[in-house]
Formats: sequence, C-alpha cells, structure tokens
Amino acid sequence: MARRISILGSTGSIGRQSLEVIAALGLSVGALTAHRNTALLEEQARAFSPELVVLTDPGAAKDLAVRLGDTPVRVASGPEGLLEAATLESVDTVLTAVVGSAGLEPTLAAIAAGKDIALANKETLVCAGALVTRAARERGVKLLPVDSEHSAIFQCLQGCAHRGEVRRLILTASGGPFYGKTRAELAGVTRKEALRHPNWSMGAKITIDSATMMNKGFEVMEAMWLYDLPLEQIDVVIHRESVIHSLVEFQDGAVLAQLGSPDMRLPIQYALTWPERKPGPAARLDLLRCPDLTFSPPDGVNFPCLELAREAARQGGVAPAALNGANETAVALFLEDKIGFLDIPRLCQAALAAAPKVEAPTLEDILAADAQGRALARKMV
Ligand code: NAD
Ligand code: MG
Repeated sequence: MARRISILGSTGSIGRQSLEVIAALGLSVGALTAHRNTALLEEQARAFSPELVVLTDPGAAKDLAVRLGDTPVRVASGPEGLLEAATLESVDTVLTAVVGSAGLEPTLAAIAAGKDIALANKETLVCAGALVTRAARERGVKLLPVDSEHSAIFQCLQGCAHRGEVRRLILTASGGPFYGKTRAELAGVTRKEALRHPNWSMGAKITIDSATMMNKGFEVMEAMWLYDLPLEQIDVVIHRESVIHSLVEFQDGAVLAQLGSPDMRLPIQYALTWPERKPGPAARLDLLRCPDLTFSPPDGVNFPCLELAREAARQGGVAPAALNGANETAVALFLEDKIGFLDIPRLCQAALAAAPKVEAPTLEDILAADAQGRALARKMV
C-alpha cells in the first residue's frame, strides 16, 4: 500500500529526513506541521504540495499564509491546527516527529481517527504508553517504530509468532559524547560539548538526552510498550560504534541483530514501507570499512538518568510523565545555559520522588503530572 502521510514536526531532524525518504519513494503528503520555521515550511509546502500546513505559532502562521497565497495549500495554526493535521481525512499514516510531550494529544487524536502511527516522538509512549497502546489496539491501527533501536527490534521480530519466544531485548547505546567521564568532569561540561554527538546528528533535545543517557531510559520504556515486555526483559549495552542498532535474544539462545550505517532514513523508511522493503536513500554499510564492534555495560554511577527512567517505569502510573516533564524543562534550561549538566539528573530525581501515586491514570492525570514535573524543576532552579 502506498501511504499518504502527514508529518508532525516536518522542519526538524526526523521531519526533514522523512521528507527525503518520501521523495525517494514517491509517497504523497497530506499535511506538514512545524512550530515557527516559516521559511523551511514554505519550501517544503512548495516541494510536496500538501493539502494543509500548520505552524503552531499563530504569528508565524499568518506570515506563511501570505507567502503561500499563490498556492492552493491551506494554512492553519495553534494546537487545533496540529490536531487537524493529525486527523486529516485523506491521510492514512501520521509520522510523529515533534519533540516532547506536545506530541501526545495529536497522536491520540490520530489514533482515534484510525491513522497508523509512524512513531518517532518517544515522549508520547514514555508519558502515556498504556493509554496510547490501548487506543491503538482498540482502533486497530499500527504503531510503527521510527526510533532506530526499536526499528531494529521490530525487524528482528518479523516472523516471531509468539512473544513468549523472546528471552530479552538488548538496546544498544552509543554512550553519547561524555562516555567514560567521571562526575567531577561532567560538572563542568558545556552546552556546546553536550551537543557534539559522536555518531548521530539529531535535534538539540534528544542530543542532550543522549549525553545524560535519559534517552536510553526513555527507550527502555518505549520498548516495553511497543513490544509488550516487562522491564526485566529489556537490557542496555554500550556499543560506541552505533553499527548494531539493537538485538533480540530468543529462548533457544539465538541472538538476532540489525546492522546498518547510523542513518535515520533507514528506520524511517521501514516504518513507511513495512512489511515490504524498497531501495532507498540510506547510507549502505560496508563491513570492510566498519570499525571494530565493542560492547560494555552502562555506567549507572556517573549517568544516573538511565536508572531514574527504569525506576519511573517500575513505579508506573504518572511517574514517567512527571519525570519527562521535569527532564524537558531541565534540558531547556541547560540549553539556555541556566543550569549545569549535573543539574539535569538532580531536577529529574526530585520530580520523580514527588510524583503522586496514581493507578491507571487518565489523560488528565498524565497532563497534570507533566505540568507538576515542569513546575517543580523550574522552582528548584
Ligand atoms: P527537532 O528539534 O529537530 O524537531 C522538532 C520538530 O517539532 C520541529 O519541526 C519543530 O518545529 C516541531 N516542534 C517543536 N516543538 C513543538 C511544539 N511544542 N509543538 C509543535 N511542534 C513543535 O527534533 P528531532 O531530533 O527531529 O526529534 C523529534 C522526535 O523524534 C523526538 O521525540 C525525538 O526523541 C525523536 N527521535 C529523534 C531522532 C533523531 O535522530 N533526531 C532519533 C530517534 C527519535
Ligand atoms: Mg534511538
């Protein structure tokens, strides 16, 4: 089936690479959204002729409507615009590439409207994994992973009929720019150093999450929800080279891995062509030029965020949403040079400790915990 796609967050790192894949595969685009990058969204609208474009910033949207006045493309704005893009009649698939819990409500709306989700926005599953996976099951839509580790696992699980055959998932982690550093060294690292990821070029927020290892903690939760496995069956191993994107160990001892160049266009493409494979733009892996592959355990002492996320997963309820809200605020403050690198786990830990116990939380409970996590982090600075 040739998909018609809306991209939420088309001007970001994942959004731009998704459009490269869409162009290469000749797929069609229903809607594109961004926060306030008028110039790039105009360029994308002219290249892909979507029905609708949305800038959540109302002032920027007004400007874009004038710029696109000579085209039939409709322009909308605000959170309502985002919801409209997520539920557009003519579209069958919504690729969620906005950053943060801002992706949650549009994703739920897309599911309710019967759209398959190509999911990059992992914060959605971190905050509301139970709600989102239940909604997808009930509505009969697919959650197709875009995150490279989860795509690797998805690829390794093709042909696996029973989840009981899986012994464990092994998520690989590059370790980020600060792998091997001590707490004393980490206390003085700068925003610029934290933004220099060794293997991947990504948006600022996920790059900082990779440096703290919170990203890997979030990915553990993402894997729990996508593959319906308990925390104890999901391991993390440091693999500096980012050639093996993750592995599945089966009950008989067989271990399947997916290898490739660190290029997000491959997992993006697989989410859009699954269950088929097609030629595409992703870089090829040359085994003869590949570095030696190394593996080591994560360092939980100097990088406590992975364990904080595991603890949030253990607590369940709204704990992950509170942790995520605090983390989004802490990362934003770090990117504004307002706090140090080690303040990020400190604020996150406090928000997790303060998270209320809520069994089977509703969307309102989750949004409230997210807001509390943000407020607490801001208050502590
Ligand atoms: P990015 O910052 O490069 O892009 C974010 C996009 O979302 C932009 O188009 C921006 O305009 C839009 N946006 C930002 N805030 C918004 C808001 N409040 N409301 C509406 N739109 C908003 O981010 P990215 O690196 O492309 O990451 C996007 C998502 O994909 C994140 O959840 C990230 O964790 C996940 N992801 C990214 C990568 C990667 O390689 N970049 C890999 C795996 C997963
Ligand atoms: Mg990843």
